Amino acid sequence: MTLLGGIEAGGTKFICAVATDPQTIIAETRIETTTPAATIAEALAFFQRVTAGRPLSALGIASFGPVQLSPDTADWGSILATPKYGWSHVDLAGSFARGLGVPVAFETDVNGAALGEARYGAGQGVRNIAYVTVGTGIGGGLITEGRVLQGRRHPEIGHIRPRRHTLDLEFAGCCPFHGDCFEGLASGPAILRRCGAPLHQLPSDHPMWVIEADYLAQLCGMLALTVAPERIIMGGGVMQAEGLRAAITAPLLAYLADYPSGIAAEIATTDLVVAPGLGGRSGVIGALSMAADIVAEGPAISCRAHSPSGIAQ
Ligand code: ZN
Repeated sequence: MTLLGGIEAGGTKFICAVATDPQTIIAETRIETTTPAATIAEALAFFQRVTAGRPLSALGIASFGPVQLSPDTADWGSILATPKYGWSHVDLAGSFARGLGVPVAFETDVNGAALGEARYGAGQGVRNIAYVTVGTGIGGGLITEGRVLQGRRHPEIGHIRPRRHTLDLEFAGCCPFHGDCFEGLASGPAILRRCGAPLHQLPSDHPMWVIEADYLAQLCGMLALTVAPERIIMGGGVMQAEGLRAAITAPLLAYLADYPSGIAAEIATTDLVVAPGLGGRSGVIGALSMAADIVAEGPAISCRAHSPSGIAQ
């Protein structure tokens, strides 16, 4: 029987899973993200323990970023310069390929989650989706015509700068790079910095609700105007605030002003902005899907395989 490995590598925890197919997980563990050496060693030990005598066929890693995804670079599979202490330039894919002797597929955490949702969650039945997470940061993965969209780098849609809401002209924003980009204005820490409490704890008439919905509507509008996804799947801790997703519709309609023609009716009659179908499981199921693609050798959605011998499987 084929055994697949998957890792959702996050800034606070690594979720590691072994499965017979992406939806049938037979063992799983959560490892606190500490130093790279300790975290990777603990994850390797988990896979070695669970798969004793029955090695994995492939491993998928959906990692926090930024990461190197360009296949023809020497540092493919590594984490790039990151504010997370000690993790810059860590060769994550190579560490697991060497440690377990298996081919590894590597993507961003949000690309992995987008893939999981596209195949098994809220993106089923359509070909083009955006997966957006609004939590500690804001990030997004895009699937177009069934494939993970990858340019020279992976998209960083959370770092686009929105137009300021008129009730929000004072706060400088908290992105260490850009100040008032979407992440700097609408992430969980940005809300906390302004209001001293997370959104779901603020009264429904607090102006932060209107401000937050407006920024997320701008982000959805920009996605609608650029990649035109059939669904925008919005997950992450901030989206747990009840009523937030629904509150995006009115400012989104106002922003687009029915251009392109018919988009207002489209938004009104279809579920454009939806919750994840897999809850908090999108990332790990996506990582397992990446491993399954290596095994199948004919992936519907491209992902780059890396083997310890240096020859793509
Ligand atoms: Zn930024």
